[in-house]
Amino acid sequence: METARIPPKSGAAFAVKAGESFAVITPEPRQVADLVAFDRSDPSEAFAQSYTRDLNGKLRITTGDVLYTTRGNELLTITDDDCGVHDILFGPCTEWMLTDRPTGEGRQDEPGGCRENLALALEAYGLDVPVPDTFNVFQQSTVTDQVYFDVRESPADAGDAVRLRAERDVVVAVSACSAKGVASGTTLTPIDVQVPANTTVHRASVHDDRQD
Ligand SMILES: [Zn+2]
Repeated sequence: METARIPPKSGAAFAVKAGESFAVITPEPRQVADLVAFDRSDPSEAFAQSYTRDLNGKLRITTGDVLYTTRGNELLTITDDDCGVHDILFGPCTEWMLTDRPTGEGRQDEPGGCRENLALALEAYGLDVPVPDTFNVFQQSTVTDQVYFDVRESPADAGDAVRLRAERDVVVAVSACSAKGVASGTTLTPIDVQVPANTTVHRASVHDDRQD
């Protein structure tokens, strides 16, 4: 396995074959990562947050749970999970969220967030597709009084990892979340991905147009 660093406020895409595993790791405490994945042979079949909730019968997934596609097929399985708290209710942060929504320190006023960074990273695979709602790794969301949606501080400790096994050939994109606020705090930090040897990791960010 090899480890690649995704700098703060940026994304990366890589391909994983069926049966292979990869991990998402936060080197610093309390940093959320967003993840999407697509069937490599037919990218119209993508991770579906809604069907993942439905087919697991859960609002929060961890070891043993499966990430499903838009067609109800198995895409990724969580095989190890140091943190145990991830979100499948929230969308990826995106430009309007970062420019229109106050964080407590005012507005972030930045050109884009995870949705834009994931889309840019996926261009390396020719995927010009809308980025679906994400698997929000290390994000803690809670439903209170059976009604209210409440995002809380990420409980992730430094070094926490989530390992996933590909159930088919997939293209995966992961971002180090760009949103300052209650989940990741006001200091945004990198995310590491551990991938099979010789896997190319294509990084991209709307903040500085770095792309490889
Ligand atoms: Zn984000």
